[in-house]
Formats: sequence, structure tokens, C-alpha cells
Amino acid sequence: ATPVAMIASIGASARRGLLIKGGKYLEALAKADVVLLDKTGTLTLGRPQITDVVLLHGSDLEPDCLLALAATAERYSEHPLAEAVRTAAADRRLALAEPEDFEAIPGKGVRVRIDGRTIAVGSRRLFPEGALPNEAFELQEQGKTLLFVERDGQPIGILAATDTLRPEVPGAIAELRKMGIEHLELLTGDNELTAAALAKPLDIHYRANLLPDDKIAIVKEHQARGRVVVMIGDGVNDAPALAQADVGIAMGAAGSGVAIEAAHIALMREDWTLVPEVMHIARRTMKAVK
Ligand code: ADP
Ligand code: MG
Repeated sequence: ATPVAMIASIGASARRGLLIKGGKYLEALAKADVVLLDKTGTLTLGRPQITDVVLLHGSDLEPDCLLALAATAERYSEHPLAEAVRTAAADRRLALAEPEDFEAIPGKGVRVRIDGRTIAVGSRRLFPEGALPNEAFELQEQGKTLLFVERDGQPIGILAATDTLRPEVPGAIAELRKMGIEHLELLTGDNELTAAALAKPLDIHYRANLLPDDKIAIVKEHQARGRVVVMIGDGVNDAPALAQADVGIAMGAAGSGVAIEAAHIALMREDWTLVPEVMHIARRTMKAVK
């Protein structure tokens, strides 16, 4: 049976905006020694803004056409970057067409048919063969996330986006360190330079260019070393890693329903101070149980 102290903690936590799905997760959390973090929507606000629209060599389009095409492709994607593309198109009052055969490729992007042509938007991983154009390097060095746009297999343009660090993150990470969490690691599907731009000022480890399966493999790698692993994420693509972790924490309020479902704890307020708070609650509860 679940000890009374645990039930009381779970009830009190719910009123604070922390949904804890069982006493065993408090038990695991009290012993946690590794914290893994997703980037977009977790460390950042997940409301990226499109800053650049770059036509690639050989493209026959105007910048607005490229943006409209990308927004049409992203019309039904739940990804925060898709929302950024749609917002940029709406800001310029661009009309969107109806995409056909919508396909979301987790951790990579989307692919659709528009007017009989195949349009893909996403990370470089969606286009393994293509060499990176010069424009792309400059944008990446500014810490921007790149979205490549491809038509019938030909790269036609690049959109760049920036996102903002959640303001409570530096304080929350400092608190986790004070609590003895030594290994904090950013896991992202985004590129190396963007990952470094975020991780270095926070002094945390990072791994970039990851696919959802890579995130699970990294959780398992830490578990194989006998560590108790916490994973914090928000997206559909984080769900498998959240489920694999000893304690998966979903940024609930902003995150996808799939992530909330897969996680063991959901933050129902978009507030990183809840992360060290739930760890303190777990430790106090386990002291009371013993
Ligand atoms: P993170 O791990 O930072 O949360 P994701 O795994 O969700 O990022 O995405 C990794 C990369 O895949 C993004 O940086 C982006 O380049 C690309 N991507 C994923 N989904 C989309 C989409 N719907 N539109 C454009 N790009 C996407
Ligand atoms: Mg994310």
C-alpha cells in the first residue's frame, strides 16, 4: 500500500500544479543523480520566431512565396517551429494552400504534397545528401535553428528561428546543483552550434543532432551505469525518452498531450521553479516514510 505521507504529498503537489502519477516516482526522484533536458519548449519558451528567410541558389521563388510554401507544409504540425512558420506567414498576410498527404517525421520535420509537388521542411537530417550552403553556417553561428525547405528533392531555401531561454532556468539549475545533481545534460535534435550557445552559459553538458531514438539510448546509457535518471521534455518526440527515464517530467501546460501521457510527473504550470520544488518534495516525503 502507498504510505499515507506519499498520498498527502501527491495531493499537496497537485494543488501546486504538480501532477505526480504515483508514489514510486517520488521514491525514484529522491534518489535521482542525472537530469536530462530537452531544448525546444523545455529549456526555451518554445515560441520561436522566424528571423531570416534565405532563398538558395537556383531557387525561382520570392521570399514570401518560400515562406507561404513552408507555412502550408507546416499547416497541421504541432511542432513549435511549425507555429513560428505559420505566424511569420500570417504576419505578412500570406495566403496558405491546403497541403495533401501530410506526414510528420519526428525529430526531423514534415513532408507534404502541394500542387502535385513534394515539399519538405525540417532539419538537415531530413536531407542527408545535401551539402550545407554557406549561408547556413553564418546563421548557425548566431545560435539560430535552421529549417531547410526542399521541393521535389531540391533544397530551395532556409528559414532561421530564434527561441528564448525560460527565465527561471538558470536559477532552477543552480538549485539542482546545490541539491547535489552533478550531471545535467541538454539533449536536442537541433544543431551543434545552437545547442552549444544554450548549454555553455548554463555550464551543462549537451548532445546535438539527436533523433527521438537517440534520446532513449542516452537515458539507457546512464541507467546502465547505475544512475537514477530524470528526463524533462515537452514534445511528442520526447515521449519515448520520458517513459524510459526513471522519472519523466513533462512541461505540461505548454507541452503535447502525448508527452503528458508518457511522463510520470507533469508540470501543469509553465514554471521551472517547480522542478527543484518537486525534488525537495520527494526528498522530504521519503524522509517521512522511512
Ligand atoms: P528539440 O530536441 O530541440 O526539442 P526536435 O527534436 O523537436 O527538437 O526537433 C529537432 C529538429 O528537427 C529541429 O531543430 C528542426 O530543425 C527539425 N524539426 C522537427 N520538427 C519540425 C517541423 N515541424 N518543422 C520544421 N523543423 C522541424
Ligand atoms: Mg521539445
